[in-house]
Amino acid sequence: MSSLKTIPLTPYSTPKVGAGGKTGTWRIERPVINYEKCIDCLICWMYCPDSAIIRTEDDRVKIDYEYCKGCGICANECPVKAIEMVREV
Ligand code: SF4
Ligand code: SF4
Repeated sequence: MSSLKTIPLTPYSTPKVGAGGKTGTWRIERPVINYEKCIDCLICWMYCPDSAIIRTEDDRVKIDYEYCKGCGICANECPVKAIEMVREV
Protein backbone atom coordinates (compact mmCIF):
# COMPACT_ATOMS: atom_id res chain seq x y z
CA MET A 1 0.00 0.00 0.00
CA SER A 2 1.39 3.40 -0.89
CA SER A 3 1.76 5.90 1.90
CA LEU A 4 -1.15 8.22 2.56
CA LYS A 5 1.46 10.94 2.82
CA THR A 6 1.57 10.97 -0.97
CA ILE A 7 -1.89 12.56 -0.88
CA PRO A 8 -1.19 16.27 -1.26
CA LEU A 9 -2.15 18.57 1.57
CA THR A 10 -4.74 20.44 -0.47
CA PRO A 11 -8.07 21.92 0.58
CA TYR A 12 -10.64 19.32 1.57
CA SER A 13 -13.94 19.45 3.40
CA THR A 14 -13.83 20.82 6.90
CA PRO A 15 -16.52 20.68 9.59
CA LYS A 16 -18.86 23.62 10.03
CA VAL A 17 -21.45 24.61 12.60
CA GLY A 18 -24.75 22.97 11.62
CA ALA A 19 -28.37 23.24 12.77
CA GLY A 20 -27.45 21.20 15.85
CA GLY A 21 -24.48 23.39 16.69
CA LYS A 22 -20.95 22.05 16.95
CA THR A 23 -21.05 18.26 16.81
CA GLY A 24 -18.42 17.94 19.53
CA THR A 25 -21.19 18.55 22.06
CA TRP A 26 -22.74 15.18 21.14
CA ARG A 27 -19.73 13.25 22.40
CA ILE A 28 -19.79 10.91 25.40
CA GLU A 29 -16.29 9.55 24.80
CA ARG A 30 -13.28 11.38 23.39
CA PRO A 31 -10.42 9.91 21.37
CA VAL A 32 -7.01 10.60 22.88
CA ILE A 33 -3.89 10.05 20.78
CA ASN A 34 -0.82 8.54 22.39
CA TYR A 35 1.90 10.24 20.35
CA GLU A 36 4.53 7.83 21.65
CA LYS A 37 2.71 5.00 19.86
CA CYS A 38 1.54 6.96 16.79
CA ILE A 39 3.43 6.10 13.61
CA ASP A 40 1.93 9.00 11.61
CA CYS A 41 0.25 6.69 9.11
CA LEU A 42 -2.70 9.11 8.62
CA ILE A 43 -5.26 6.30 8.56
CA CYS A 44 -7.36 8.00 11.26
CA TRP A 45 -7.30 11.21 9.25
CA MET A 46 -8.60 9.36 6.22
CA TYR A 47 -11.34 7.45 8.05
CA CYS A 48 -12.84 10.14 10.30
CA PRO A 49 -16.35 10.68 8.90
CA ASP A 50 -16.52 14.21 10.31
CA SER A 51 -13.13 15.52 9.14
CA ALA A 52 -12.42 16.11 12.80
CA ILE A 53 -8.87 14.83 12.53
CA ILE A 54 -6.56 17.53 11.31
CA ARG A 55 -3.48 16.68 9.28
CA THR A 56 -0.75 19.13 10.14
CA GLU A 57 1.89 20.53 7.80
CA ASP A 58 4.43 18.04 9.13
CA ASP A 59 2.09 15.07 8.52
CA ARG A 60 1.04 14.53 12.10
CA VAL A 61 -2.54 14.32 13.30
CA LYS A 62 -4.52 16.14 15.94
CA ILE A 63 -8.17 15.97 16.89
CA ASP A 64 -10.58 18.87 16.58
CA TYR A 65 -12.70 18.36 19.69
CA GLU A 66 -15.10 21.09 18.60
CA TYR A 67 -16.44 18.71 15.97
CA CYS A 68 -15.36 15.17 16.97
CA LYS A 69 -18.57 13.25 17.75
CA GLY A 70 -16.77 10.46 19.57
CA CYS A 71 -17.81 7.69 17.20
CA GLY A 72 -14.60 5.74 17.83
CA ILE A 73 -13.88 4.87 14.20
CA CYS A 74 -10.40 6.37 14.43
CA ALA A 75 -9.57 4.24 17.48
CA ASN A 76 -10.93 1.17 15.74
CA GLU A 77 -8.89 1.74 12.58
CA CYS A 78 -5.57 2.79 14.11
CA PRO A 79 -3.17 -0.05 13.28
CA VAL A 80 -1.04 0.41 16.40
CA LYS A 81 -3.86 1.17 18.86
CA ALA A 82 -2.51 4.65 19.54
CA ILE A 83 -5.99 6.11 20.10
CA GLU A 84 -7.88 5.44 23.30
CA MET A 85 -11.53 6.35 23.79
CA VAL A 86 -11.89 8.05 27.15
CA ARG A 87 -15.20 8.75 28.87
CA GLU A 88 -16.10 12.43 29.05
CA VAL A 89 -16.50 13.65 32.64
S1 SF4 B 1 -14.05 9.64 17.31
FE1 SF4 B 1 -15.07 9.67 15.27
S2 SF4 B 1 -15.50 11.85 14.90
FE2 SF4 B 1 -13.99 11.77 16.54
S3 SF4 B 1 -12.01 11.97 15.56
FE3 SF4 B 1 -12.44 9.76 15.78
S4 SF4 B 1 -13.41 9.14 13.85
FE4 SF4 B 1 -13.51 11.39 13.96
S1 SF4 C 1 -4.16 5.88 12.76
FE1 SF4 C 1 -3.01 5.77 14.69
S2 SF4 C 1 -0.86 5.59 14.10
FE2 SF4 C 1 -1.98 6.32 12.31
S3 SF4 C 1 -1.81 8.56 12.41
FE3 SF4 C 1 -3.73 7.98 13.44
S4 SF4 C 1 -3.16 7.81 15.63
FE4 SF4 C 1 -1.26 7.76 14.43
